[in-house]
Amino acid sequence: MKKYFLILVLFISFLKLLAQSNLNEPIETDISIIEQKAHHAKLKALLSGATDNYDVKYHRCEWIVDPTTTIIYGKITTYFIPIRTNFNQIEFDLIATLGVDSVKYHSTNLTYNQLSTNIVQINLPYTLPINKLDSVTICYHGIPDEGNGFGSFKQSQHNGTPIIWTLSEPYGARDWWPCKQSLTDKIDSLDIIVTTPQINKVASNGLLISETQAGVNKIYHWKTKYPIAAYLVAIAVTNYSIYSDYVPLTNGNSLQVLNYVYPETDSLSKFQTPGIINIIKFYDSLTIDYPFALEKYGHAQFGWGGGMEHQTMSFVSGFSHPLMAHECAHQWFGDHITCGSWQDIWLNEGFATYFEGLTEERFFPSSWYQWKLSKVNQITSLPDGSVACTDTSDVGKIFSGRLSYNKGAYLLHMLRWKLGDSLFFLALKNYLNDPHLANNYARTPDLKAHLEAVSGQNLSIFFNQWFYNQGYPSYQLFWSQNEHTISVTANQTQSHPSVSFYEMPIPIKFIGQYRDTTLIFNHQFSGQTFTATVNFPIVNIKFDPELHLLSTQNTITEILSYSSFENQTSVYPNPANSSLTIISLNNSNALESFEIIDALGREVYKSGVYKGLQKEVSADIRTLPKGTYTLKIALKFGYNYRSFVKD
Ligand SMILES: [Zn+2]
Repeated sequence: MKKYFLILVLFISFLKLLAQSNLNEPIETDISIIEQKAHHAKLKALLSGATDNYDVKYHRCEWIVDPTTTIIYGKITTYFIPIRTNFNQIEFDLIATLGVDSVKYHSTNLTYNQLSTNIVQINLPYTLPINKLDSVTICYHGIPDEGNGFGSFKQSQHNGTPIIWTLSEPYGARDWWPCKQSLTDKIDSLDIIVTTPQINKVASNGLLISETQAGVNKIYHWKTKYPIAAYLVAIAVTNYSIYSDYVPLTNGNSLQVLNYVYPETDSLSKFQTPGIINIIKFYDSLTIDYPFALEKYGHAQFGWGGGMEHQTMSFVSGFSHPLMAHECAHQWFGDHITCGSWQDIWLNEGFATYFEGLTEERFFPSSWYQWKLSKVNQITSLPDGSVACTDTSDVGKIFSGRLSYNKGAYLLHMLRWKLGDSLFFLALKNYLNDPHLANNYARTPDLKAHLEAVSGQNLSIFFNQWFYNQGYPSYQLFWSQNEHTISVTANQTQSHPSVSFYEMPIPIKFIGQYRDTTLIFNHQFSGQTFTATVNFPIVNIKFDPELHLLSTQNTITEILSYSSFENQTSVYPNPANSSLTIISLNNSNALESFEIIDALGREVYKSGVYKGLQKEVSADIRTLPKGTYTLKIALKFGYNYRSFVKD
């Protein structure tokens, strides 16, 4: 899921402009997430656990909706298998404000209670045997509640035309239908049959089996045979215009992307939605083939400012590249494998955010650095917070843009850095193919196990620091060069006391006047000193120039060394008055450049860069005040520091 905030796009690259071609498209900003947090800060809703004693196998959901009114009439037939003994009641999650009209067990009417805890408690005629498939049917109607998701069942308008859409994540499925709202048991298969006035079309999960006339109404029958979490079941109903894009697959088949768009934006949508083709091909190549290829992918336009990754049919406000890429990534991360607890929401949102970032790296490489920098800046805008969601009763905390989305994405970026591309993406493939996780739920240790298995690395420290605990580091580097030897001392401070030290491989770029090299050091404690051989004079160093790491406010200090290359140069005359000459002695033609530094450490003269390398160079020093100076002479193999007197 991704919430967008409506502001005008001020800066947009030409390439993206071509891809999106819509200046009014909402752009991503985490302000929206913060606002969301404010709206939902007091919302308390937890999974009931009342439904844990059966395995839900199948729902036949029959709904009557008319987008001109916020009323739903429903008939839900549930096939289930009791998994505990003494099964003489069955319970469903359903908001108490929706009235149950009847419950039938086969042809028998059953008694039931609607509890104030938003549970329908149904009294079975006798104790049902364990492990035996059975079914009940609930008829209900009413005005659905909007309070437990992001507007779980929303009646609205587009261009003056009524629309109804649903968005159940995280706790809103029960606001509009009786279900098992857990994160432990997927519905194995599902029929969705919606009756609505015939002006409307119904977008939903799976394949459209039939569309039949029934008087002034139409009945749309959708069916999915892939396991699905209750919060991913969705319908959107309005006067959609419908067309398809097709993604060629490596096996020679093609995947249908079924677009349900507002008629008023039909031509713009047709220009934008084909962008999904390269996104899906790219995700296929990075991970595993699109996980619902036997059915479809799709987009349905809706009025919530953002997107929601309903299985096989994402609901989106528009068709910008970042939004399409984010919601589509959820089909692998969120839908195919769903977080097994809202504590682990980053397994949905961190991945979707990072994979959208990977599309920037692949298709818009000039914006990739800025993408990473904006994430780093937003994450480090506050000193605390863990990727692990510590309060799942607060919808705002579950959907924290800073932590669940961006820090989650950066956690993945750092794992990729630690493991390297081939092992990182292999681990993701293995995770997505794991028969215990595919079409099911996963927790963070499940992902960690796959990363450890392919890499041979123990990632416990990494996950403790970056997932369970809070904050991020700042680095303070002190460096010097002595002949061919570069020395770097790396100190680290932390923004939050829950982590005493972040252990990471740190990349440092050593920059000469016309050469550079990047070395990686395994940073295991603050104050650790690394030495390496660098065969050219270093002008400057950069810490983590490509933003592999989450860190901020890093500092770099050069420690001048006066002992190096004592016998490599001759400086004359000394004292000097008008001109100073430097000669390279043992290595002819080794001079690259030089600086003159006064007693206060200020650079008072800087030579040009001798790309051809010189044997002898001179400087006009007539304007220098009298005094003692340091010469910092760059030779092709390192620095030589000499002093001289101006008289
Ligand atoms: Zn998302």
